Amino acid sequence: MTSLYIHIPFCRRKCLYCDFLSFSDTKYINEYFDALIKEINAFDCKKVRSIFIGGGTPSYIDSKYIGKIMEALSRYNIEKNAEITIEANPGTLTLQKLKAYKSYGINRISIGLQAWQNELLKALGRIHTRESFIENYENVLKAGFENINIDLMFSLPEQSIDMWLETLENVTALNPAHISAYSLIVEENTPFYDMELALPDDETDRKMYHSAIELLKAKGYMQYEISNFAKEGFHSVHNCAYWQRKEYKGFGLGAASLMDNCRTKNTESISDYIKGVTIAESEGLTKADCMAEYMFLGMRMKKGVSISGFKREFGEDMLEKYGKAFEKFKDFIEISGDFVRLNEKGIDISNMIFCEFI
Ligand code: SF4
Repeated sequence: MTSLYIHIPFCRRKCLYCDFLSFSDTKYINEYFDALIKEINAFDCKKVRSIFIGGGTPSYIDSKYIGKIMEALSRYNIEKNAEITIEANPGTLTLQKLKAYKSYGINRISIGLQAWQNELLKALGRIHTRESFIENYENVLKAGFENINIDLMFSLPEQSIDMWLETLENVTALNPAHISAYSLIVEENTPFYDMELALPDDETDRKMYHSAIELLKAKGYMQYEISNFAKEGFHSVHNCAYWQRKEYKGFGLGAASLMDNCRTKNTESISDYIKGVTIAESEGLTKADCMAEYMFLGMRMKKGVSISGFKREFGEDMLEKYGKAFEKFKDFIEISGDFVRLNEKGIDISNMIFCEFI
């Protein structure tokens, strides 16, 4: 089974912290979609477990383009209850668009809200306000979507713990099925990198993270990954495929794939892409690479990594192979039954622990 990712690199305006491959210039939109459909048509696919239409802002463009993509994908063998997600940003979701998505078979909407307070949204360079989010959210419900994710960010400039709690309280009151909460990382090559920002310190960042875990748990959201929380039965099938190293194929500009233990990445040049040039990088993974990925991707998940699954896949004993790392971080790792997982303290230093597996 395969998961598919489709990259739509267009946004109305670039957010000040964004280092994703996206731009506001849509002059090549028709050529881009022609190339995207060619890429889809040239690929032979096994059964499809999930589809994620991401970006960029797929909801920014006319829904007819999304229809074309879904039509091209329909030649694949898509599982009956496959999770099919589209990423959306408030300020771009009309009822008409949402009804069109529904008619194409899309059954999950992931909305980038980020923060509840308009002053924070403005400081992030987002195109929307809290009010436009609420209006769009109502449209999503009216169109009949039940599987809704809301993306949030914390550790934002000028954000206090109270503001973060206000965001969580208001968002959980809307009762979405899924919430993602990521700490802002100021990346090079973004306007934020060159700005004087009043960012919360590390201690406040961790307080915000732990308060989110606590509040979300109290509201019925199970934490199933470092940054992801869901109501029972609503974890993201697509994202779990990434963390469990299942096969996936990415289409479009800069899209990444993992097929037959080979990681590939498409070109980031739109002019090359519309000329039909797709793959820019390709790396065959060694057994050691695959084992390392199994560990540092799988341990992002709360349930952890399976010892017997590791043995089945690689023919090696995980506890022997990584015994030294487990001993070094014994206060941060829990080994219980067939699973090795990070404990609460371990999540706070996860990147340091993951380095041990590389
Ligand atoms: S909406 Fe998302 S992809 Fe688009 S500019 Fe903002 S952060 Fe980047």
